[in-house]
Amino acid sequence: MTETASPLSNLAAIDAAHHLHPFNDMKKLAAEGVRVMNRAEGVYIWDSTGKRYLDAFGGLWCVNVGYGRASIVEAAAAQMRELPYYNTFFGSTTPPAALLAEKICALAGPHMNHVFFTNSGSEATDTWFRLARVYWKALGQGTKTEIIARRNGYHGSTVAGASLGGMKYMHEQGNLPIEGIHHINQPYWYGEGGDLSPEEFGLKAARELESKILELGAERVAAFVAEPIQGAGGVIIPPESYWPEIVRICKAHDILLVSDEVICGFGRLGSWFGYQHYGFEPDLAPIAKGLSSGYLPIGGVLVSDRVAKVLIEEVGEFNHGYTYSGHPVCAAAALENLRILEEEALVSRVRDEIGPYLAQGLQSLCDHEAVGEAPSIGLMGAVQITADKASRRRYEKPDPIGSAIRNHCLANGVIVRATADRMLFSPPFIISRSEVDQVIDTLRQALDWFVTSDLR
Ligand SMILES: *Cc1c(COP(=O)(O)O)cnc(C)c1O
Repeated sequence: MTETASPLSNLAAIDAAHHLHPFNDMKKLAAEGVRVMNRAEGVYIWDSTGKRYLDAFGGLWCVNVGYGRASIVEAAAAQMRELPYYNTFFGSTTPPAALLAEKICALAGPHMNHVFFTNSGSEATDTWFRLARVYWKALGQGTKTEIIARRNGYHGSTVAGASLGGMKYMHEQGNLPIEGIHHINQPYWYGEGGDLSPEEFGLKAARELESKILELGAERVAAFVAEPIQGAGGVIIPPESYWPEIVRICKAHDILLVSDEVICGFGRLGSWFGYQHYGFEPDLAPIAKGLSSGYLPIGGVLVSDRVAKVLIEEVGEFNHGYTYSGHPVCAAAALENLRILEEEALVSRVRDEIGPYLAQGLQSLCDHEAVGEAPSIGLMGAVQITADKASRRRYEKPDPIGSAIRNHCLANGVIVRATADRMLFSPPFIISRSEVDQVIDTLRQALDWFVTSDLR
């Protein structure tokens, strides 16, 4: 045992000495010791001590088809042997890049017929950000440059991504947001809805967009961006009244509607894209995460016919691109991932079977004194911790509470995520009913522990 454990425990020391992690307090991480993850299969992942976890978060919202898919590995290896890399810049393409673009557009609906490839969701954000301004300029409306986004939205970590995102703690690092970006409030009824009904509050939150457009002048506004359901912000599911009103406002004032599909895309909500779930047609839609189920990094921007026509006929050359845009190995892995989703009918499984089952499990937690609400759509769900059910009061310092409950689940072999006082779920689409039960039981135990702990 000791012989096999030592090189891996040494890894934690090596990691602490040399590896700067994203979104981690490095001093704390070095003191507590990093978890070394080294193997996975299905919904399970093992660390270097041999401890097994049920990953109810799908890596980072992305491992939609589950771990250990040999056919994705084989598709990538075969492509590497055939052609490991070529660019898509100066008049070239590769078979997987072309075929993946075709496949994505076939799923995206009749008004979406083009895709621009990137390596991540953040790069997709930077891409549509430029594209939206290029579009209006080409139409002779170069004053339309301002972009409206939301507080507590998340669109990535590049300069444009962090600026468009509504995370204050991100803006504080690096003098963000950059110019030309404006934030309105989020449709978070539980936390911010006050005495309004969810439907009234949904309309009020949507109409903040209209007020902001009128304040800036529609002739200055290029686009509005939002996630169909906010992910990193805490799985904030908007009231049903929200999206139809947003769509109306964007149409009325002629501004581009950008649906950030990085989490909701590729089946998470039980539809291929989040905008299909809510029944609208965005002008631009960044994608990433579930496109390859995380097996290799790839993202992109879906470009609607409205924007593509101007780009192709009026702009000509869009001076933008990444060395690895449409990388053939990543594209081959993504194609195989989409083939699996279709062959195993995983998107309808999320919609009709396992999504409703998760919803039932989450609802069963609502009898707990610490739970305020437990909403979900498809396999994207949240449990809101509350200090007082009747008044929807939240704890004054929510972060340590969410973290402690998450850590309790982790110690008991289930990975969930916490955003402040909301516990988040985004499991692989292959999760079984008994595995869902295990997630719910483990969370209930953690909640029972919490209400007797001195954190309260
Ligand atoms: C993760 C995420 C991004 C950023 O994607 P990266 O691949 O991490 O750059 C953008 N938008 C949303 C909604 C996300 O969840």
